[in-house]
Amino acid sequence: DSSSGSSGFASKGSFPGRVPAAIGRKRLRIVVTGGAGFVGSHLVDKLISRGDEVIVIDNFFTGRKDNLVHLFGNPRFELIRHDVVDPILLEVDQIYHLACPASPVHYKYNPVKTIKTNVMGTLNMLGLAKRVGARFLLTSTSEVYGDPLEHPQKETYWGNVNPIGERSCYDEGKRTAETLAMDYNRGADVEVRIARIFNTYGPRMCLDDGRVVSNFVAQAIRKQPMTVYGDGKQTRSFQYVSDLVDGLVALMEGEHVGPFNLGNPGEFTMLELAEVVKETIDSSATIEFRPNTADDPHKRKPDISKAKELLNWEPKISLREGLPLMVNDFRNRILEGDEGRGL
Ligand code: NAD
Ligand code: UDP
Ligand code: UDP
Repeated sequence: DSSSGSSGFASKGSFPGRVPAAIGRKRLRIVVTGGAGFVGSHLVDKLISRGDEVIVIDNFFTGRKDNLVHLFGNPRFELIRHDVVDPILLEVDQIYHLACPASPVHYKYNPVKTIKTNVMGTLNMLGLAKRVGARFLLTSTSEVYGDPLEHPQKETYWGNVNPIGERSCYDEGKRTAETLAMDYNRGADVEVRIARIFNTYGPRMCLDDGRVVSNFVAQAIRKQPMTVYGDGKQTRSFQYVSDLVDGLVALMEGEHVGPFNLGNPGEFTMLELAEVVKETIDSSATIEFRPNTADDPHKRKPDISKAKELLNWEPKISLREGLPLMVNDFRNRILEGDEGRGL
């Protein structure tokens, strides 16, 4: 047991020698693929703080070591630079499979790579789960519903996805990943869990990631106009990252395969979002209209009754409460970056 006893870390106060949360149950060894990314790094923090061992697998396509640097030196933490498209041998109890670019700008950058990551990467992680008897959680997406004809979306809805469009590498990739997970569940008795995540925001999002919340927040801080695509009347439902992480852990620890919608049902048009960002960051912020991207879903809002009932989970943080929590992180990083460029 490398983390108990006098490792020297306990005396610095950063890593307690014994972690109360782990007392009374076996310490788990958990893989988080994509753990250097936005959601993954917050999940890793939660798993480490409750006393488990975490191995992150990441190829740093969109993830950053900065997101995990505070864990370097912790004996319960390990970071492996690896691409999930290639097989890997590990001995673990649980696999949280997040590796996949999530922002449209990133996943369209190399669409074939996005499909390989979703299909071959998920296949490899399921093969690993089968070999070692680990429980496997897939982070799927609300994008499996495409441009939905049912509103709000329930898990029973099969979706309205264009199979040959610019977003298909991601949407269809995730749909195939869900299929693979269900086939390993039915055919090989792998314990799988499927989360369908709706738009999530918070600290550590990439500044240049092109998603709407990170764009508007960075633009308002830099005193640039917020770029509204299309007429701005399309809707999304925005979830704060700590609510998502709680939901992922509840799903992994629970007894239900899913799929489960994990999202905040609060629904906003992009114009309303711009208004909230303006109130939060800078009352003089302006907007600028830009052409929309292809196949942009017109509306999206989760029905979360299933997760409420079976996982006893629901989000706690509203958009107005959550936005200020990411502003400091963005301000600091923008200041560093802008200063860096100015030198
Ligand atoms: P992110 O881009 O910040 O993180 C993805 C991580 O995966 C990065 O660290 C990246 O380097 C890594 N990665 C990508 N391809 C890889 C590969 N082939 N091998 C190894 N690592 C690889 O995105 P995020 O927002 O943290 O999303 C995490 C997961 O949640 C993704 O699977 C995404 O599809 C899903 N999701 C996120 C949202 C959201 O709003 N954030 C919504 C729906 C679904
Ligand atoms: N795999 C892996 N790590 C493991 C076990 C399997 O990366 O510990 C990969 C393996 O290389 C294969 C995939 O997972 O590409 C599916 O494995 P499985 O055993 O289910 O299928 P098979 O190898 O029989 O095609
Ligand atoms: N969008 C926008 N301005 C931006 C970025 C995105 O108006 O600077 C819109 C985009 O057209 C979409 C919505 O915001 O309707 C959400 O886009 P995002 O890329 O954040 O996530 P998606 O839900 O499309 O995956």
